Amino acid sequence: MNSTKNKVVVGTLVVLLLSVTAVLVVRNKIKSFEASFLAEADNGRIGGGANNPVPDWHGFLAKNPEERDKILKVWCVDNLKQIGGAAHEWSAKHGHRFPADLFALKEQISPRYLTCPEDSDRREVTKWFRAKAANVSYVIVSPNLNDPRPNVVVARCPIHGHVLLSDGTVFQGDYLKEQGMQLRKDNTLDRGAP
Ligand SMILES: [Zn+2]
Repeated sequence: MNSTKNKVVVGTLVVLLLSVTAVLVVRNKIKSFEASFLAEADNGRIGGGANNPVPDWHGFLAKNPEERDKILKVWCVDNLKQIGGAAHEWSAKHGHRFPADLFALKEQISPRYLTCPEDSDRREVTKWFRAKAANVSYVIVSPNLNDPRPNVVVARCPIHGHVLLSDGTVFQGDYLKEQGMQLRKDNTLDRGAP
């Protein structure tokens, strides 16, 4: 018995499980962010400042290769949450309008969040001066959105099917399928029964 190793593996799985649970709960209301928090160009992350570092996704993958699909799904959700937080920050400065594209978010987050980790055609970059359209996986569904409704799909991952709503909530693609939740013609998500 290698109890130390077991503890590490169990601890990592608990962290992952909590992440997945948080994703499924998904009422990720965007709080007002501290005005003093200004993202560094290459490591900006919304919310929590130094207490909210970038998760060690590569470390999780190395320790739990059998959990690869799950880790990449949660990683992608985290990216969309960061994009959602950044878009809210941006909209607060632009008359409550959401940006036309993700390159507008240079002062809010690192470009690392624009690339889905499952997207083998695109490479993650951590400096904005290196970021090009070819690095961006996520699709803006509602550019220039100016709509007070909370359930308008702002962006989505074309690989996982995750969606980011205008209230900052992120739904996993698998969950949408399981629940039969559909995107309406006006880009709102039909959440069905509450
Ligand atoms: Zn994805």
